Amino acid sequence: MEATHLQSIRRDGTKESIWQTAEKQSITTNSSLLGTDIFDVIIIGGGITGITTALNLQREGKKCLLIEAKNLGFGTTGGTSAHLNTFFDATYPEIDSDFGKDASKLIAAAGKRVILAIKGNIDSLGIDADFSFRDGYLFSQDEKETKQLKEILASSVEAGTEVEEADTNGVGIAFDYSVKFSNQAQFHPLKYINGLARAFEALGGQILENTFVSDTKFLDGIHQVKAADKSFSARNIVWATHIPPGINILSLRNAPYRSYVLAVQLSDGNYPACLSYDMKEPYHYFRTHEIEDQKYLLVGGEDHKTGHDDPEQAFAALETYVRQNFAVDSISYKWSSQYYVPVDGLPYIGKLPGAEENIYVATGFNGNGMIFGTLSAEILTDLILNRENELSELLSPSRLKPVAGFTEFVKENADVAYHFVADRFNNEALETLDN
Ligand SMILES: Cc1cc2nc3c(=O)[nH]c(=O)nc-3n(C[C@H](O)[C@H](O)[C@H](O)COP(=O)(O)OP(=O)(O)OC[C@H]3O[C@@H](n4cnc5c(N)ncnc54)[C@H](O)[C@@H]3O)c2cc1C
Repeated sequence: MEATHLQSIRRDGTKESIWQTAEKQSITTNSSLLGTDIFDVIIIGGGITGITTALNLQREGKKCLLIEAKNLGFGTTGGTSAHLNTFFDATYPEIDSDFGKDASKLIAAAGKRVILAIKGNIDSLGIDADFSFRDGYLFSQDEKETKQLKEILASSVEAGTEVEEADTNGVGIAFDYSVKFSNQAQFHPLKYINGLARAFEALGGQILENTFVSDTKFLDGIHQVKAADKSFSARNIVWATHIPPGINILSLRNAPYRSYVLAVQLSDGNYPACLSYDMKEPYHYFRTHEIEDQKYLLVGGEDHKTGHDDPEQAFAALETYVRQNFAVDSISYKWSSQYYVPVDGLPYIGKLPGAEENIYVATGFNGNGMIFGTLSAEILTDLILNRENELSELLSPSRLKPVAGFTEFVKENADVAYHFVADRFNNEALETLDN
């Protein structure tokens, strides 16, 4: 039985995610009152990346306008599973070997700092976002995975994460070896971004919803941002649209993937108190969230490259898996959403390569965009304010990282990227992105 709720927050999929039952944030900006002012920064996209960036910049005294094609949280932020981690889809052994051990240390420290920054926003702004710290278990189920997991443990310790061997995986699924990352966290992504949006508006920030940006032009050092019959001016632009529009170097370096999530009620009440992850390819991820006194087990997985999909088959496979491993009473929500896998494993955050000056982008978050979207806000704020940032070089979108298999990645991705990006940045298509 699927839950039916009055859908106040819309999402780029036909299936309702568990987060959409939150109250929609009402926006106070009236576009007709915006006048012809030049904004310091126009941020395009109202997910976690755009809203956090807008708030950070407005806090720094910048005059900001955030423009969202539909409603806040319409994109993947409304279809996430909202685990907050200090370990990522690019594992520390991979980062060690592709970028060096100092890079692993920077990324590990950033993960920890971002979780505290999210908690800091929640506390200082009084946002009721269901935040709690949790242990996070990563577990293996055969010899090959165990070997890999032991390498992950060693590199994660060296990188500086709080991690150790564990005698449980927190979910009661048979395992071979398990490690526990401490001080991971979980929260409600839409309640969180709504709270940030309120704070942004309270500081004088402006938000326009239902406004699709179709074009930008650069004239005499000022960007003109075109949306329907309106045009807005800004010194800086941030594309916080999950992937920047059009075909460019970043659409070729990021492959779109889809992941599937079920929110399940259990008959035995045995809801995990932790976050947990197996090591299958694609892997499964588990956690519990409580909404209106009802607990739900969230289980995600069955990821695949966009365009190679049969969503109903993926949902069915995930359901079979959950029923094999948990005492399922009912399935209350099922949804899927899109994410972007960067060719060399790390996100691209900074100036958009090949574009006019002062155009910024944040993309390639893989399944870790709650952390990397928030980190983008930190980095982009520093770049726009001309401040040093220790991660700006490592995560620069202009980096040319020679990676094994790059040519095949680009070839394989070119077609899917073309169709996906071409479709995605067509306003009508935003309505019809399915599942
Ligand atoms: C199923 C799933 C589970 C995940 N789980 C986790 C997790 O547990 N932890 C984690 O850290 N990450 C997770 N992720 C990744 C994370 O959810 C995303 O990386 C993150 O939400 C991206 O946020 P964003 O703000 O960059 O983009 P989005 O949330 O996609 O926001 C982009 C916005 O831009 C708007 N937009 C697009 N084009 C235009 C335009 N031309 N004009 C105006 N507006 C426009 C869209 O409407 C959209 O609202 C998961 C992803 C998936 C798919």
